[in-house]
Amino acid sequence: MDVRAQLAMVFNLDKCLGCHTCSIACKNIWTDRKGAEYMWWNNVETKPGAGYPKFWEDQRKYRGGWVVKGDKIKLKAFGKLSTLLNIFFQPYMPKLDDYYHPWTYEYAKLYEGIEEEDQPVAEPISLITGKKMEINFGPNWDDDLGGSRLYAERDVNLEEREIIRDFGNIFMFYIPRICNHCLNPACVAACPQRAIYKRGEDGIVLVDQNTCRGWRFCITACPYKKVYYNWNTGKSEKCIFCYPRTETAQANACAHSCVGRIRYVGVILYDAEKVEQALKVKDEELVNAQREVILNPRDEDVVKSARKNGIPDSWIEYAVRSPVYTLVKEYALAFPLHPEYRTMPMTFYIPPLSPLIAIQSMLYDVDDDYLIINKFNKLRVPIRYLASLFSAGNEEIIVEALNKLMALRIYMRAKNIGENSGDVLKKVSLNEKDAEKLYRLFTLASYDERFAIPSAHREYLEERDAEERKGWRGIGVIRGLRGGI
Ligand code: SF4
Ligand code: SF4
Repeated sequence: MDVRAQLAMVFNLDKCLGCHTCSIACKNIWTDRKGAEYMWWNNVETKPGAGYPKFWEDQRKYRGGWVVKGDKIKLKAFGKLSTLLNIFFQPYMPKLDDYYHPWTYEYAKLYEGIEEEDQPVAEPISLITGKKMEINFGPNWDDDLGGSRLYAERDVNLEEREIIRDFGNIFMFYIPRICNHCLNPACVAACPQRAIYKRGEDGIVLVDQNTCRGWRFCITACPYKKVYYNWNTGKSEKCIFCYPRTETAQANACAHSCVGRIRYVGVILYDAEKVEQALKVKDEELVNAQREVILNPRDEDVVKSARKNGIPDSWIEYAVRSPVYTLVKEYALAFPLHPEYRTMPMTFYIPPLSPLIAIQSMLYDVDDDYLIINKFNKLRVPIRYLASLFSAGNEEIIVEALNKLMALRIYMRAKNIGENSGDVLKKVSLNEKDAEKLYRLFTLASYDERFAIPSAHREYLEERDAEERKGWRGIGVIRGLRGGI
């Protein structure tokens, strides 16, 4: 067992308002600079939709992530030869228009302009050229268009015609995205300069700005398109998981500012030796295999191995009370986004339930003792759609999670209005204690319950940082595959 610690995040999609406060908090701190105007390290997309950059999930176009070839896992876009051939040109990378052309408005004209018959208008001007421009795409374009069918039809998760035909009845939802600080980061593996690295102590993936030469392999390789090129500095940049904040036990700016309180941050312990094998399983087994990689921090053997690997005791204690562990592993409610890209993301999503009031009576009737699971086909967010986002097509595990969430709501509602909820919890293998714990986490949880972030231990880090910079490139699978380049 090779135990490592990772800071991870969970998003409860049922509660996201699409308010973009998280994106603005992030932008104000990290990307409010020349060359970074178009970057949204944290962005919020509307699903179904094309996303930002446009159609980022279409890996036939962008070729991000990993594929299994025989008994090996290889980057989809590059081998050793193509790394050399593409050194000056990345053919599969998104262009600026795929992100959007960043703009501001001529606000000064509103109060400095000469008096005329018509209302003054603040026209959009490019933040890059300073000239007037027309706006035809933006980072939350699907949202601006109210989940338009035009863009939804290009959502690769909606390729099945049946779902598109039914588009009018589909309920849209929001999905906030940051870099996933993956356990098998394609960006790290693709960088010929070794400028991107995964920190040993907390798993945060960073770009060393002194080493980066702007080759942009990372941008092609990341299937989530969460590395960005700064046209001013000529270097790549990405979400840094607010490490200057997490090192001092503060929540990330996006999580701290989240209006819907949908985010949870915590430590998980995982077994680095199991990662490679877990990535070689069939698509529909990927989520469960990833859950197996995550270790129980209460297990004595795990604690022993963690200490042997130099993980500080405070981190092990925080792993025990990590809300991420609770939601991802203990209750299996949260899923990685697109596990089939095989980067093993360390951000997880609790899938949304459809509007509840309308369907609750259809779902459960104490007297008739309905099985909740059989009624889920009637949800307005098709299970197949959620499965294509969060479980590489495995509908069963999505239904299991939705059943638990629904049972929890039925139980709490019945309790609050003095009705009998029968054995609804038992049907989904929960008990009253579980229900109270989850209810608190989803509704009333305090700052310290939502964010269990231990402070960094510099004394332990310094030796290790030096080692890692010399050549540690994440987990064994990466070292084996890309070490020679
Ligand atoms: S999402 Fe994963 S592959 Fe993409 S930049 Fe982040 S760590 Fe790298
Ligand atoms: S701040 Fe929270 S609720 Fe608002 S869009 Fe971001 S993740 Fe969603």
